[in-house]
Amino acid sequence: MDELILNQKKRDMLKKTVKKQIGKTTHVFQLQAENLHELIMESKKMSFPDVLNCNNCNSSDLILDANKAKSHNFTFIRCLKCNSKVHFSNPKENSDVFYLKTRVQKNDGLEIKVLDWRNTTNEKV
Ligand SMILES: [Zn+2]
Repeated sequence: MDELILNQKKRDMLKKTVKKQIGKTTHVFQLQAENLHELIMESKKMSFPDVLNCNNCNSSDLILDANKAKSHNFTFIRCLKCNSKVHFSNPKENSDVFYLKTRVQKNDGLEIKVLDWRNTTNEKV
């Protein structure tokens, strides 16, 4: 009986496909929620744009990568050519939300936000 209810509930879930292009690869994420509001809220958790090229060497050989440290989990985009990385950040108060770190860069006197690519060649991966 419980299983039947669970299955019924699963059928009623709304689904949404979110595609994010990282380098040459298109990553397809299937989201689901019980109603439209929850579904849109779910999609907002992946609050980052497509990233086509490394900001340091312009390569499109990029991968989504992650590793675990003692106190923190790291998720990032890594350039396979020059090993630069741009990290995802997730605010502690809502740790399911991910966005890419940015920094302010001056461009002709204007301050613009750019992705915070860091070259990590000398760091341990
Ligand atoms: Zn690169």
